Amino acid sequence: MCSYKGHVSLVAPQCRQNWTIFGRVLKAEIYTLCPLEMKRNGKKANPKIMEKIFIADAMLGRLAKWMRIIGCDVEYFQKISNNEISERAFHSGRIILTRDTMLIRRKINRENCFFIKYDHYQDQLKQVVKAFSINPMKNLFTRCLLCNKKLLTIDKISVADSVPEYVYYTMDNFKTCPSCNRLYWKATHKNSVVKQLKQILGLK
Ligand SMILES: [Zn+2]
Repeated sequence: MCSYKGHVSLVAPQCRQNWTIFGRVLKAEIYTLCPLEMKRNGKKANPKIMEKIFIADAMLGRLAKWMRIIGCDVEYFQKISNNEISERAFHSGRIILTRDTMLIRRKINRENCFFIKYDHYQDQLKQVVKAFSINPMKNLFTRCLLCNKKLLTIDKISVADSVPEYVYYTMDNFKTCPSCNRLYWKATHKNSVVKQLKQILGLK
């Protein structure tokens, strides 16, 4: 993916050491370019290689929640220092999503920081989805909203004692979080979430 004018390169932890800074600051956003992608002459990179993973700063809780709804891997902590965000991002290859220009200025973050321009989560989500070419419908409801872990499918029979009787007899598909064990199923509120998401992103 080209990293110029609104197209941001994706994190590839395995080649992180070789990243070069393409254009440090352009219209208040930082753009970096992975050499793997340069070789592709702007052609779309293999999504298996270029997995996008993020860490959001403490000001971006609603953005993080909505990104998890659409299946993005986003670490978020209500209380976290700039030092800790920087270290976690550096060692995990996560892209820092931030409204904090002090965080962006840190040398350690120069290659993996993305400045969120907007105050409202709707605009923030639009910005991220567009910049990182995320398909918002592809992995919808596949991640735990609390823990950020990928949900696992679970046998219906094993949730019989854990969900309301009505839910058990009307739903067939259940998922669980491997970290907090919370159960997920397709409830009516999911339709309203999808409706909101489409409104935010201007989708039909
Ligand atoms: Zn969980």
